[in-house]
Amino acid sequence: MTGPFDLSGKVALVTGANTGIGQGIAVALAGAGADIAAVSRGAPDDTARAVAAAGRAFLHVAADLTTMAPIAGIVERTLARFGRIDILVNNAGTIRRADALDFSEEDWDAVMGVNLKSAFFLSQAVAKTMLLSGGKIINIASMLSFQGGIRVASYTASKSGLAGITKLLANEWAAKGINVNAIAPGYFATNNTEALRNDETRSRDILARIPAGRWGKPSDLGGAAVFLASAASDYVHGAVIPVDGGWLAR
Ligand code: NAP
Repeated sequence: MTGPFDLSGKVALVTGANTGIGQGIAVALAGAGADIAAVSRGAPDDTARAVAAAGRAFLHVAADLTTMAPIAGIVERTLARFGRIDILVNNAGTIRRADALDFSEEDWDAVMGVNLKSAFFLSQAVAKTMLLSGGKIINIASMLSFQGGIRVASYTASKSGLAGITKLLANEWAAKGINVNAIAPGYFATNNTEALRNDETRSRDILARIPAGRWGKPSDLGGAAVFLASAASDYVHGAVIPVDGGWLAR
């Protein structure tokens, strides 16, 4: 592959790359030529196989991003193996569902820790390594970066916050050669949405609102991820790009 979307010689650090959306993005970046450092708690065997099949190198960094404790080690291990980080995808995320009247502090902190605090501080740690040669940071936002949702107070707060942080970091780092943008997936068939898909009424209502007429698949995000990771997006800063089958247009 050559041209503005080519990622040959680039190294991408992708959090939550063992499954779902993170896996789809890691495989797409490898397909465009990037080597992959994958952060997750669970084993990323399927992702490792797919990256190897694309002919790219793969490193697994086991880490729990509920706290900031592993952040320095993630960066050190990736640099020790690959010598550089060109692309960071802050994808790891979790969700807790409860009515706002009953929402617990534990469910608030668990979600905000992974989805927002770790994403910010991992971006900070990686950006320090990108200052000489530039880089690309892609945050995985949500429809709830634009809308309120129901029964997911900490998730909505975290994803709305992540959209804001995307713009703040773009403002501070664009002139330093670092592009910070976000992808806002619509409704995708992954572990994250299993409860919704198992709820007949919610599942039917959601599907009825998606103009494309189907739930998203992780591979549907590959094009946007490669675009934001590549030279094709060099003048794109602070954008939150919906990949939602038309959900927000309705
Ligand atoms: P998923 O299959 O549940 O994947 C979540 C990923 O995050 C897993 O790789 C998981 O790794 C990782 N993760 C969760 N908690 C972690 C922690 N404490 N430390 C390290 N890694 C952790 O769901 P998904 O849909 O692919 O979600 C990926 C991202 O997309 C999330 O940020 C989610 O909010 C966002 N998103 C999803 C949708 C959707 O419709 N599915 C829509 C909009 C945005 P382990 O398996 O190792 O825990």
